[in-house]
Parts: sequence; structure tokens; C-alpha cells
Amino acid sequence: MSRPIVATIDTAALRQNLAIARQAAPHSRVWSVVKANAYGHGIDRVWQSLSDTDGFALLNLEEAILLRERGWKKPILLLEGFFHPDELQILDRYRLTTSVHSNWQIQALANASLSAPLDIYVKMNSGMNRLGFKPEQVHNAWHKLRELKNVADMTLMAHFAEAESAEGIEEPMKRIERAAEGLNCPRSLANSAATLWHRETHFDWVRPGIVLYGASPSGSWQDIADCGLRPAMTLNSEIIAVQNLQGGDAVGYGARYRAAGEQRIGVVACGYADGYPRHAPTGTPVVVDGVRTTTVGAISMDMITVDLTPCPQAGIGSKVELWGNTVKIDDVASAAGTVGYELMCALAPRVPVEVR
Ligand SMILES: *Cc1c(COP(=O)(O)O)cnc(C)c1O
Repeated sequence: MSRPIVATIDTAALRQNLAIARQAAPHSRVWSVVKANAYGHGIDRVWQSLSDTDGFALLNLEEAILLRERGWKKPILLLEGFFHPDELQILDRYRLTTSVHSNWQIQALANASLSAPLDIYVKMNSGMNRLGFKPEQVHNAWHKLRELKNVADMTLMAHFAEAESAEGIEEPMKRIERAAEGLNCPRSLANSAATLWHRETHFDWVRPGIVLYGASPSGSWQDIADCGLRPAMTLNSEIIAVQNLQGGDAVGYGARYRAAGEQRIGVVACGYADGYPRHAPTGTPVVVDGVRTTTVGAISMDMITVDLTPCPQAGIGSKVELWGNTVKIDDVASAAGTVGYELMCALAPRVPVEVR
């Protein structure tokens, strides 16, 4: 390996994070959400560390098939269901649980010829207005599905738009209660935030995603700092050059940063083509040789520049942590005006990944 950038996946952290999600909802079963290639970590790299889960939730058939081919026998839930009626044959063959959010899917299930009935999740729209039946349509959809010979177990599913706050779940919970009245059905409602912070949402199955990877559903690491969650991904690189600036000297594209006086700058082998956020401003936290410092100037495709003032001992070859245990991905994300979710998912294919 030549270029010194590497992402490390910590399998012990994944195991611990799943255990913490479980403890938070001790009476529920857990769907570990591994969509988007396990939030950028690589589904094939992480699924075994999460195999204490009760099921995996995702949305690409390719990812579901991969898990079956690797020998995963327990449930797999397709969070967005099937996208075309033809896919029902694949759901049948690989025994996948599907969400059903639209009437055309009910029709497709009615028309399909399957080897055995499928478990389904009836998706209700609790106010987010993306997928699902409106509360007043749930009974009708439920009863239609209940009558189909292709349908086995049924669960009511909803998703919160704002599970970070108590107010954010209050109104959706009322709508869910109303929709579920008289159905006496199992329920799956909680994402990471609701799993951690709202017991009343737990019911039969919780669906944590981001916390498994050790980042915060609220975007702020402070909110989960005391839970025992550990970042699963560390992005490391090295200083590959040092520049000694005089007062007034500029750094990088657009000369967005100018040194006020003499200043040592380190050039790090990591840029936006590796998945580092291009919008990270001067001042974004970074660790050089174990010392916290900040970026200066524009993020380039292949390099970033950092202030070496707090770490005068650092030089070419010094280790740099872009995010991980010391600088949290949430902190880098919030400096760049985004969320940890996006940074994980955007880890570029050109970055080598080590699993520890
Ligand atoms: C992504 C997703 C989750 C997990 O959300 P986190 O915020 O990562 O915990 C749960 N349920 C559904 C339907 C999702 O799409």
C-alpha cells in the first residue's frame, strides 16, 4: 500500500454498540440496519460482528442476497419493500420480509405465485409523508393483506421524522395508536434515536442504524457521549509534506486561508475524493500526532492542510486521524454542515479498509 490513507473498522465496537442498543430496548427484538452498504462500512465486512442481532434491515436486493449467500438464515427486512412485482420471485426464493407501503404492492402480492407466504411489514405514514398508508387507510390495507394467501406474519411499521425530541414523537405516536386500534398487531417503530430515548416506542422490534456505527442520531456526539457507544470507523492518514509560511502567505485553492505570522502547515493525504467533506471550513477539528488541531484553507480532491502550531514535533510521516475515537465523525460533520451518516456513507471506494 503506498498512499497512507486507511479506514479501520473496529469489530469490537460494532459488537458493543449492538449490545448497547439491545440494552436500551431489552424487551424488543432488534433489526440491525445495514442499508447503504452498512452505512459505508461494507456490509460484507460488518455483518458477522452484528450477528447477535435478530435480523438485518436494508433495501437493496443485492445486499439481501449477499447475506443469504454468506449463510445468514434469520430474518431480512426490505425497508422500502419491492420496487417491481417481478422482484417477488426473488423475495420468495430468499425468504425476505418486505415492507408494504402502497396499494400497488398489495395488488402485486395478490397476483403473485409464491412457494410459501411472506412475512410483511405494513408501513404507515405517521407524518413524515414519504412512504406508507395514511392512518385512516391502515385498517383497509391491513385487512386486504390479511386475506391474501401469500401473506404470513404481519407487523405494523412506522418511522419517525424527529425522534430526537419528545415533541417529535408525540403526534406520530397518537396517529399510530389510532391506526393500530383493534388490530392487535406487533409493531416496529423505533430508529436509533427512539431506541435510545423513547421507551414507549419500542414494542416488538426496534430498528437502530447509526448507533451501531457509533455516531449520534441527533448529529451531536454530546448526546450519546455517556452511552458507551464507540465509533466503528476510524479514518487515518499521514502528513506527506510540511510548509513553513510567512505572515500573509496563502494556503490552497482560492487562497481561502492566509497565515497571520510564521506558521507551520502540514499537508495530509486525504481529500474530498476520499470522502472528506469539501465544505469543511478552516477550523474543522483533526488530530495530528495525537494532538488536536484544525484544518486550514480549502479541502482539495486529494489533500487537506492542517495547522501544526499545537504540535511542533509533528512532521512528514506523522499520523493524522480525520475521524475516529478522538475527533468524532459527528464533530467533523457538524463543522461541515452535515451529519455523520453522510460522511460514513460517502467513504470513497479508493480508500483501503482494514478490519480489526
Ligand atoms: C434508516 C432507517 C432506520 C435507521 O435509522 P437510524 O437513524 O440510522 O437509526 C430505521 N428505519 C427505517 C425505515 C430506516 O429507513
